[in-house]
Amino acid sequence: MARYTGPSCKECRREGVKLYLKGERCTSDKCALNHRSTVPGQHGAARKKVSEYGMQLREKQKTRRYYGVLEKQFALYYEMAEKKEGMTGENLLILLERRLDNVVYRMGMASSRKEARQLVLHGHFTVNGKKATIPSILVKAGDVVAVKESRRDGAKIKSLAEAMDSRVKPKWIDADAANMSAKIVALPTREDIDFDFNEQLIVELYSK
Ligand code: SF4
Repeated sequence: MARYTGPSCKECRREGVKLYLKGERCTSDKCALNHRSTVPGQHGAARKKVSEYGMQLREKQKTRRYYGVLEKQFALYYEMAEKKEGMTGENLLILLERRLDNVVYRMGMASSRKEARQLVLHGHFTVNGKKATIPSILVKAGDVVAVKESRRDGAKIKSLAEAMDSRVKPKWIDADAANMSAKIVALPTREDIDFDFNEQLIVELYSK
């Protein structure tokens, strides 16, 4: 399964915003953006006027990187979003939120989406009691995401579960740290997505 393997902090510097790709480090003094906020590359420090296309492209890249999705897959989500009723931009963000790796992160079982993705790939989770190893699975309302029974005694899983209660969870996820599980009480809405996205710019980009 293809994924980006380059340095995470470089992605934040490129977008000029914290994308929270490295867990606890992102909220500490060690965050690279606190020390070096220029765009990576030889001419990174030079200020350039950004064109309309440039802004649209950056918004798409920022969103794609935030959710850890590659270009081709992002374009497929956009196609899916277009086919759904309602606003395409909102549909796109909601689809991305419904990814299993995002849900594992949002339920508090991982400190970043990257870590959540690893946990899913390594077979630690079930969806409605069935083993789920594909990070891009889209959850539905009523689904139950849980740590697999046989993995619950592992030291790493236990320490991740202990941190669950201290993490902020969105209202569409009912997390249960004692049972290392979470129920999707409803599909997320645009209001539940607390990051600063301008999805309309992405729609404009793909509409060209
Ligand atoms: Fe981004 Fe986190 Fe690196 Fe800061 S520490 S630049 S938020 S990945």
